[in-house]
Amino acid sequence: EKRHKVTVVGSGNWGSTISKIVAENAKENPDVFEEEVQMWVYEEDVTIAKDSPHYDPSVGDAPQKLTAVINKYHENVKYLPNIKLPTNLVANPSLVDAVNNSTILIFNLPHQFIHRVSKQLQGHILPFARGISCIKGVEVSDEGVALFSEWIGDGLGIYCGALSGANIASEIAAEKWCGTTIAYDPPPMDSSRNPTPRTQTPSRDSPRGSGVNLGFTPLADLQHKDARGRPSKTKLVSVPPEYPPLDHETFKTLFQRPYFRVRMVSDVAGVSLGGALKNIVALAAGFVIGQGLGDNAKAEIIRVGLCEMLKFGKEFFSETVHPDTFTVESAGVADLITSCSSGRNFRCAKMAVEQGVSVAEIEAKELNGQKLQGTSTAQEVYSFLKKRGLEKEYPLFTAVRDIIEGKYPTSDLLSLIQDD
Ligand code: NAD
Ligand code: 13P
Repeated sequence: EKRHKVTVVGSGNWGSTISKIVAENAKENPDVFEEEVQMWVYEEDVTIAKDSPHYDPSVGDAPQKLTAVINKYHENVKYLPNIKLPTNLVANPSLVDAVNNSTILIFNLPHQFIHRVSKQLQGHILPFARGISCIKGVEVSDEGVALFSEWIGDGLGIYCGALSGANIASEIAAEKWCGTTIAYDPPPMDSSRNPTPRTQTPSRDSPRGSGVNLGFTPLADLQHKDARGRPSKTKLVSVPPEYPPLDHETFKTLFQRPYFRVRMVSDVAGVSLGGALKNIVALAAGFVIGQGLGDNAKAEIIRVGLCEMLKFGKEFFSETVHPDTFTVESAGVADLITSCSSGRNFRCAKMAVEQGVSVAEIEAKELNGQKLQGTSTAQEVYSFLKKRGLEKEYPLFTAVRDIIEGKYPTSDLLSLIQDD
């Protein structure tokens, strides 16, 4: 019997928090996972401040490699300071080495960097690996809009699900209770194979179908549908029978903690879109609160934003999106609420209005290297809509983009979204 090796690709604020979670669970479930969890770190130099408990007078102010610092102090001093990381989590600056022989790959980095990373991974991962994307954003190209889960999966020739929810990383790192949604809907073969009987965990939306295990056989004969309900381009390789199955139960075991409650669903498109589009809405909420408006105004922004999210899902992913994902799951309305209260997109947009500067300036000044996703997502969604002549049908998404571009002042936001 083999166990799953887990690698987290990314080590920012959320990447480090998710790494903490899966390392805790890997240690507690030695029958399913290898104890050591790898975390790929985009290497950089850091300087440890004199007042830090990790300040070493023999090193002084000299720059040190972030990876070495994480492995020595079990803390990501730059992106998740003051949080103890499990000792079975190993920071690795080599992407190829970090994913070597991993059966579970968790993608967790700002969406602007996934292209290069994904390219570097090609040819270096197990063909039967499975992925979970924690990235909040969408991929826009000339062909249209794609989900990162699917884009990563197609690029690497593996199945990739999505995790998204009302998940401010700093709260979860401090083990403050919350929920999340994981969408995972591989072809029937993966989910039905079950060599060792295990207790069924409750799941609202179990993977469908049944099948037989064919070892390494490509799953070409089994219809794997993409987010638009079309046959997927990717020919999957099944998980060998000596591994525990990569199903809802295994992923719940990997991610759920007493303080991080997981609901498993199969709506990958809904979960991915919820996480991406809410960031545009959070910027709009920041713009109205920054102007001195109140909670009523913010609630109306959330309502209008939710309507545009539902419309977008229905218009472009109608074959697979469940509207319920936006209205009852953590990845939908709950994430909208938390992101419009204390998310970075919200806070930076609010500060930008208050200080009369651009959101990008605040991002550079206040976030110490962390990245906003809403500004680029607003641009990307706009360019996708504009190409189709649909930008006026999404007034909130379009207004946020226009404000970021400097076409209108933030004070015009309300008039831009009112239709009379
Ligand atoms: P972050 O905002 O902390 O970004 C910093 C990370 O980007 C660092 O790990 C840094 O090393 C890396 N980086 C910088 N330049 C790079 C490059 N050229 N190539 C590769 N990596 C580079 O990142 P995060 O908070 O971990 O966010 C990752 C994803 O998770 C995003 O899509 C975000 O929307 C989502 N998310 C974030 C939170 C949160 O509260 N932080 C919560 C839920 C989801
Ligand atoms: P921000 O990136 O705006 O901080 O949002 C974090 C998040 O996704 C909370 O669920």
